[in-house]
Amino acid sequence: MNAIHDPRASRKVRTERPPLAVSFEFFPPKTDAMEERFWESIGKLAPLQPRFVSVTYGAGGSTRERTLRLVSRIKSESGVDAAAHLTCVGASRAEVDAVVEGYRRAGITRIVALRGDPPEGAGQPFTPHPDGYRSAAELVAGIRRLGDFDISVAAYPEKHPQSPDWRADIDNLKRKLDAGAARAITQMFFDNDDYFRFVERARKAGITAPIVPGIQPIHSFRQISGFASRCGAAIPPWLAERFEGLEDDPETHALVASAVAAEQVLELVDHGVTEFHFYTLNRASLVLALARLLGVRPD
Ligand code: FAD
Repeated sequence: MNAIHDPRASRKVRTERPPLAVSFEFFPPKTDAMEERFWESIGKLAPLQPRFVSVTYGAGGSTRERTLRLVSRIKSESGVDAAAHLTCVGASRAEVDAVVEGYRRAGITRIVALRGDPPEGAGQPFTPHPDGYRSAAELVAGIRRLGDFDISVAAYPEKHPQSPDWRADIDNLKRKLDAGAARAITQMFFDNDDYFRFVERARKAGITAPIVPGIQPIHSFRQISGFASRCGAAIPPWLAERFEGLEDDPETHALVASAVAAEQVLELVDHGVTEFHFYTLNRASLVLALARLLGVRPD
């Protein structure tokens, strides 16, 4: 027998692990053509039986009605559970509570609760509405008072850009979970070591809730680098190098993107991660391929 390493051996171990839980994040489409792609992607991803599909809440509540309409329809038509994002930006507590009540009436029991960013942009200081919730932790407590919702909150493996230090960042996450959130979902990150270190810090601080990695497949390196810099996620030099010169070569770009994302999720699985949240940007293809690699298939 020769001693050549058989890569199938490690893959076999992966398939023998307990099934993984996945969730998919979408954003409210702005045009009819985008809405068509949105539903097409939901149609392709729903058979994977995600734990939930979530729909974001536009800056300053600009998508309030659309988010509600989309999550209601996802839930009633696709057969998967839907989660509505919600922020505190530019609204009083009474207005935010009314949105929560609207979700409840529509049968939505899952909420991703966020502070949100000011309309001027993510880097600008946040000024709460004079009668509003001042942070995600306060929002979580407010939602809890209104009903028995399953609440997710945001976490930042590279620290929230406005956190003065790690201690403040982790304390803030703990406040959100102690207020009644069931899990944290992370901001996108591309270096798994940032995630591992973050989880270690959180566990040391007594946080026991799941910290679900948010995975951003790189459909377009240019677009994702822009998003990343706005939300404080670093693009490691090795990642930029992999995509260098591929702007006009979509085929190679797509192949590199799937290899990069596969490498990231499989390393997380090897470290015992069993829950994943995928930022789909309303596209199914890369996420479908990744789910398949993780052994998540249509029922
Ligand atoms: P918080 O947890 O409230 O914290 C924000 C910052 O304020 C932290 O630095 C924290 O340390 C600090 N802070 C909080 N409370 C205090 C306090 N009492 N004293 C001092 N400092 C404090 N944005 C949208 O607009 N719509 C969406 O749908 C959306 N979905 C998202 C989903 C995920 C999974 C993630 C990771 C982010 C999402 N965002 C969304 C972005 C999010 O709104 C921003 O990252 C925002 O800047 C912070 O929101 P937060 O809920 O983390 O805020």
